[in-house]
Amino acid sequence: MMENKETIMKRAEEAVLHTYNRYPLVLEKGEGVYLYDTDGKQYLDFAAGIAVQGLGYHYPGYDEALKEQIDRLMHTSNLFYNIPAMEAAEKLKKASGMSKVFFTNSGTEAIEGALKTARKYAWLKDKREDHEIIAMNHSFHGRSMGALSVTGNEAYQAPFRPLMGGVRFAEYNDLESVRAQITDRTCGIILETVQGEGGIYPATEAFLRGVGELCEKHDILLILDEIQCGMGRTGHMFAWQEYGVKPNVMTCAKALGCGVPVGAFVLDEKAAGDSLAPGDHGTTYGGNPFACAAVSTVLDLFEKNGIVEHVREVGAYLTERLEELVKKYDFIEERRGKGLIQGLALKGRPVGEIVVKSQEMGLLVITAGNNVLRLVPPLIIEKKHVDEMLEKLTKAF
Ligand SMILES: *Cc1c(COP(=O)(O)O)cnc(C)c1O
Repeated sequence: MMENKETIMKRAEEAVLHTYNRYPLVLEKGEGVYLYDTDGKQYLDFAAGIAVQGLGYHYPGYDEALKEQIDRLMHTSNLFYNIPAMEAAEKLKKASGMSKVFFTNSGTEAIEGALKTARKYAWLKDKREDHEIIAMNHSFHGRSMGALSVTGNEAYQAPFRPLMGGVRFAEYNDLESVRAQITDRTCGIILETVQGEGGIYPATEAFLRGVGELCEKHDILLILDEIQCGMGRTGHMFAWQEYGVKPNVMTCAKALGCGVPVGAFVLDEKAAGDSLAPGDHGTTYGGNPFACAAVSTVLDLFEKNGIVEHVREVGAYLTERLEELVKKYDFIEERRGKGLIQGLALKGRPVGEIVVKSQEMGLLVITAGNNVLRLVPPLIIEKKHVDEMLEKLTKAF
């Protein structure tokens, strides 16, 4: 028998470590771009499990491919070859124009691999053991000790010091601040092409190009974190493709598996040629047949159904409609973002309250930074869903 919401929440709090202040919703099933809670209430999903459910719920062809893989083979370890990993890596290479792929179980682990790649690349050149990474203020790269060390957020870092050494911070979209942190020990510069958690800030073209040139000039690896903004979300398969600045290392996760937990770090020829070698890095689960069947299927469906082109079209419409809101409401400072990763910066109205009111109206939205309403819907939303979102959000306002 189905238990009521209060009982489920209470049992969860008694058993699951309290590291999140959760919203009082118990989500039970999804269909298309809608979610349903245990009371049967319907929500239009503009959160997508934090930019994960790119294809929404039960997208045609997705469940079938995964069920087929479950019936065939779930896991083998990296001591052997498997077909889905080979196919997924080939497709990711093709989509990115990069050279080699390492699959992980999460975004955080992809960041760890990227950091190790930069350290090893530099170590092979000069055998020094004091190489440095430049990261950005207000960035987010994950919660493990390495990823946290390059996450420019004092509140996240403070309780866990000492962190990994050799990290210097610069100001996002301020090229001179990056240049000022470069030393003869710098091995990598890591940044999100669009800062997500920090408040939806896209890199300016001048900044990204400038950082790319600095990396080239000093033989530093450029690490672009595409975990949130990649996989079609900006209207490009990877956000950097719009800028024409190619990373040496790219990290992916979130929508890479569209619901199956999987990440990857992807290396260009230069980074792949001179960095991690047998014995340097590993994972038991990473690249397992089930997770890779998801990646492979997602990349097929993206291509077959023109998902990226669709994002460009519906993203332009969303942008236009959000700009109308900015004009209409004094408490909306500005809109930031690209395609289907959008933020509304609020002033004088607590964003948390608007999120809760939206839930009452049957709309799921999330926050970023401390005053930004973040919209990261499934990539398959239609214009009518944008209209429905606006209707509900306006009521919440
Ligand atoms: C979510 C996120 C991560 C961490 O990914 P996890 O899968 O939660 O480990 C890293 N970088 C960015 C930009 C993210 O949005």
